[in-house]
Amino acid sequence: MQIEYAAQIDPGRVRQNNEDAVGVEPTHSFAVLADGMGGYNAGEVASAMAVACVREGLAKWCASSSGAQAPAPRLAQAMAVCAQQANTDILRAASANPQYANMGTTLVVMGFRQDRVVLAHVGDSRAYRLRAHTLSQLTKDHSLLQEQVDAGLLTREQAAVAPGKNLLTRALGVEEGVQVDLTELPAQPGDLYLLCSDGLTDMLSDDQIAQVLSTPMPLARMAQTLIDQANALGGRDNIAVVLAGLVPPNAGSNWISKWMGLGR
Ligand code: CA
Repeated sequence: MQIEYAAQIDPGRVRQNNEDAVGVEPTHSFAVLADGMGGYNAGEVASAMAVACVREGLAKWCASSSGAQAPAPRLAQAMAVCAQQANTDILRAASANPQYANMGTTLVVMGFRQDRVVLAHVGDSRAYRLRAHTLSQLTKDHSLLQEQVDAGLLTREQAAVAPGKNLLTRALGVEEGVQVDLTELPAQPGDLYLLCSDGLTDMLSDDQIAQVLSTPMPLARMAQTLIDQANALGGRDNIAVVLAGLVPPNAGSNWISKWMGLGR
């Protein structure tokens, strides 16, 4: 499966610092995104540690004899192990350095194996898929707001404009042992996947995201367009996006326009 990637981070229009981090490993067909929180620069430290730890650990596993040929469920397990390791690293750094006390981060990992996409996530950073003009959210936020939606106390529409939407019910760096959600789905040529921080989804509705993802353009420009639109609508937080497009076989050099024409 040929996969095309683009990744972009922007501080937004309000914040001075950048607490989002991304990593892409095309060789091993996976990408990582994290959105940190904490005082001073602790949020940056937590998200950078999470991305570095998962990136290194998962790349090592993918390159190993047991990881190289392993099927998708084992990739999911490896992601969970790496997320636990990142959680431990962050907790350890926080207890050793008073200025890092209470730092934490979200994490979303996306990997491709055979014809499957595997996702691991903690927190409110999201994964989406655009297929046949339809945008689907593939992860469910670990947030107080999502719990209220699940309990029927709020509709999704009310939740999108509710205050306090950034209160997480799960994050890395909070306690020993973190519960990681693992998802495995069939992937097919023409699919377009998006990982993003809440700096994007707090500014853009799903319809606005779908509109950008449905417009034929190179993926690097698409990532920049998402960021530009989030900034145009206020850019209240850091914005991180990773795009992964599954290129159809024999697409040729003009693949992007053909790909976009595949009923997308
Ligand atoms: Ca954020």
